[in-house]
Amino acid sequence: MKQIPLIDLQAQYQTIREEVRQAIDQVLDQGRYILGPEVKALEEEIADFCGVKYAVGVANGTDALLLALDAYGIGPGDEVITTPFTFFATAEVISQLGATPVFVDIDPKTYNIDVMQIREKITSKTKAIIPVHIFGQPANMDEIVAIAKEHDLFVLEDAAQAIGAEYKGRKIGAWGNAATFSFFPTKNLGGYGDGGMVVTNDEELAKKIRILRVHGSNPKYYHSMIGYNSRLDELQAAILRVKLRYLEQWNDARRQKAALYNELLKDTPVVTPYHAENRKHIYHLYIIQAEERDDLMKYLKDKGISTGVYYPVPLHRQEVYKHLGYPEGSLPNAEYMANRTFALPLYAELEDETIQYIADTIKSYYQG
Ligand SMILES: *Cc1c(COP(=O)(O)O)cnc(C)c1O
Repeated sequence: MKQIPLIDLQAQYQTIREEVRQAIDQVLDQGRYILGPEVKALEEEIADFCGVKYAVGVANGTDALLLALDAYGIGPGDEVITTPFTFFATAEVISQLGATPVFVDIDPKTYNIDVMQIREKITSKTKAIIPVHIFGQPANMDEIVAIAKEHDLFVLEDAAQAIGAEYKGRKIGAWGNAATFSFFPTKNLGGYGDGGMVVTNDEELAKKIRILRVHGSNPKYYHSMIGYNSRLDELQAAILRVKLRYLEQWNDARRQKAALYNELLKDTPVVTPYHAENRKHIYHLYIIQAEERDDLMKYLKDKGISTGVYYPVPLHRQEVYKHLGYPEGSLPNAEYMANRTFALPLYAELEDETIQYIADTIKSYYQG
């Protein structure tokens, strides 16, 4: 039986194999391995791509969030508002700095933070909001930025899943005070290892992150703050520069394939993704809802179709956050979706016939 993976990184590699190998050779021939000309060039290209002034490469997407919050000055006693329906790193970095994550429930249509519920969670301790453009669909940035302005809050976009997505015709990354990307291999722009980046128009913030990523030193061996070892390496940057040239094309292919799924699944009981107005959704993941999710996932698995749950436990219900006091039912939309949503295979090289097969298999489940 044909096995269909959730994502096929090998299929993508085969399409760019020669260019990637050349880029790797060039780095090895040059002999600079960390924070060299490739990183600098990638930073400039990503800043251009997003329409922002500064980009700073770091070791991964988690560190991008951590260093940006640290550079802004988030620390013990501070509260940071975010969504519970995201990868753990979004809240983890808040806790690592000694601050407290404050979770706001999600909009059940877009799965993004519900802006109508943000205001009631703001206290005198609130310092920042981290909206996450979950699954590749931009959060409601106009409203979030407006609320942040009213209360003098720092807005950090967690754009790990959304590089290339647009809000009102402009790339995400330029809406908040700063935004972060992850180059984890499975992300829409993924390296062959870890990598991350912060983008911002704030010169001071960018400068500080550049110092933080090299142990708080400037110049080398002169330390003005306690920092991190969080650098992007040249091999990843060189690979990412090759891939960046294809990103728009790959994102467009994902959008077309998502549209095909939508069309083929429209008369089934599953709920297909909601596409909000004024957004360019780049479908990092193609997420559907099904009441009988676990059973349907097992049925698909038996037919060779891989699926995945993103994410099974909303962050406010994680064991490590028990002390924050969010009982079951406290953020009902996030909890409801954690029990119903799952991802179908989606990547730029996925063939339309395979999507047809997956949709037919889902139909056959319901016709049982
Ligand atoms: C992947 C991801 C991160 C973390 O990125 P890493 O590069 O794995 O550290 C953070 N936030 C979200 C929403 C992510 O999807």
